[in-house]
Amino acid sequence: MHETDVLIVGAGPVGLSLAIDLGRRGISCVVVERSDGIIRHPRATAQNARTMEFFRRWGIAETVKAAGAPPDYPHTVLYVTNLNGFEIARFERASHGGLKPLAISPERPQRVNQLFLDPILLQHASSYESVSLRYRNEFESYVETDDGIVATVNVQGAVESVAARYVVDCTGTRAVVRRALGIEMEGRAGIDYNVSIFFKVPELWSYHDKGKAALHFFVDAGGITRNLVQLDGRELWRLGVSDRQLYEHPETVDAERLITECVGTRVPFELLGVSCWTAHDLVARSYRRGRAFLAGDAAHLNPPSGGFGLNTGMGDVVDLGWKLSAVLAGWGGPQLLDSYECERRPIAARNVRQSTENYLRGLQIKIDPEIADDSAAGAQARSTLGEHIRKIQGRTFTTDGTALGYIYAGSPIVYDDGSPQPEDTIMEYHPTSRPGARAPHAWLAEGRSVLDLFGDRFVLLRFGIDAPNTEAFERVFAKRRVPLHTVSIEDPDLARLYERRLALVRPDGHVAWRADESPRDPDAIVEVVRGGV
Ligand SMILES: Cc1cc2nc3c(=O)[nH]c(=O)nc-3n(C[C@H](O)[C@H](O)[C@H](O)COP(=O)(O)OP(=O)(O)OC[C@H]3O[C@@H](n4cnc5c(N)ncnc54)[C@H](O)[C@@H]3O)c2cc1C
Repeated sequence: MHETDVLIVGAGPVGLSLAIDLGRRGISCVVVERSDGIIRHPRATAQNARTMEFFRRWGIAETVKAAGAPPDYPHTVLYVTNLNGFEIARFERASHGGLKPLAISPERPQRVNQLFLDPILLQHASSYESVSLRYRNEFESYVETDDGIVATVNVQGAVESVAARYVVDCTGTRAVVRRALGIEMEGRAGIDYNVSIFFKVPELWSYHDKGKAALHFFVDAGGITRNLVQLDGRELWRLGVSDRQLYEHPETVDAERLITECVGTRVPFELLGVSCWTAHDLVARSYRRGRAFLAGDAAHLNPPSGGFGLNTGMGDVVDLGWKLSAVLAGWGGPQLLDSYECERRPIAARNVRQSTENYLRGLQIKIDPEIADDSAAGAQARSTLGEHIRKIQGRTFTTDGTALGYIYAGSPIVYDDGSPQPEDTIMEYHPTSRPGARAPHAWLAEGRSVLDLFGDRFVLLRFGIDAPNTEAFERVFAKRRVPLHTVSIEDPDLARLYERRLALVRPDGHVAWRADESPRDPDAIVEVVRGGV
């Protein structure tokens, strides 16, 4: 029987990241994973700026960037009839990739496929003494006891028990804990069926004249049902085909024909694998039952358009990690763990809805039968379609608002100041220090963001030379053993960005409270933000 604080079931990117977030807080956890941990087929590639900020917090952002496409590889999105045919639309996405920081974040969205990302997460998770990773360990069931859970794990035929205080289901679509608990998903299952063809062609761009791109969509009279994703900036590619027949009979996939049709000419390629996946539009009805929590794909499933599966899961991890550790350390209040569902479920619903809209909007674009004709009518069809795509599809590919602008409105552990709720935008992010929002980024010094202050404990920011005295506030935190660090900042630009003279930022980097004056009843605020009421 093993004893641990948190049993994490599933070592996908979400389970591994939760192990990292808990490991760096010194919380003991056991991660059980049924497979050998080797990634054989590429899934997520797009890491948004928020996910990159978490990697920065964990000290792995540079390693992650180095493992992805070279910094000068463009994040361009192309719509073409085929790569040797006609170009219809193009999105350049100059703010993605590379190393130069943006105004809105110390990190830029990157392209690092799970083929390369997951091993980095695995290595980093295993660097923490309090984290134990167990592969070929299949979770089977668990029972809840008075002060924890006891899980049954199948270790290559032998049955073992793991005792823990909490269990987190990070098993993706299998969702073994969620299913065992009977927590249903809400929404639409199976909105589309796809096959993915994983193959290698070094410098595929040298076989056509459209230049390097990250995403390529192929347009024909039947619609836009095929796309080609660049995976490493060099030689690895994934061709996605929306086709129920092929999904049901993947053994009939003719990779050579499909690749040739998309490139528009025969290219020498090495087939690395074929895999099937289903697009869903689903969110779990609840994220917690007793001592069990759901995170990542176990809690929400969306089509990949916009890149929100893994990225939403990372947000779950960062919300849950500090709350579990606060409760285990004794300073988290009785409401803290319930706030996980209140905060994260609405964000999943928002991201899943947006992904589904992106996906269906792309599939439903009507195509003129003359689209690929080398004629005046064909040119007209391409010009009309290109204009339409540029108008409607930008919000699939640029999503700074979605990635950075989510606000935990109505959260029981956020001290709402009654200020109006900012509009929820998709493409553009508008910084705000409204309680519940991600605390905005600004540079404190060369290479050092205000975001680098957050992660380990609450941070009380005092702005301006005449910032209010906060000693009484600090005393109340100390009395409740809630870790707090106070930072005074004189920079007037930063003070303006934060809109108030005082801002209290939680360990996950979200604003918990803000005001221009020290609170008259600091106790009341501490009680709310630590989940005490
Ligand atoms: C084609 C495609 C492209 C995508 N592109 C993007 C993208 O660009 N950006 C993005 O954000 N998302 C993208 N996604 C979604 C992304 O891949 C998922 O959201 C992400 O992998 C979910 O991570 P997870 O850790 O929750 O689950 P998973 O990655 O599914 O991991 C679950 C783990 O649990 C293990 N497990 C299952 N059952 C058990 C058990 N009983 N005991 C122990 N272990 C168990 C599994 O073996 C697995 O390792 C894409 C998905 C697809 C299909």
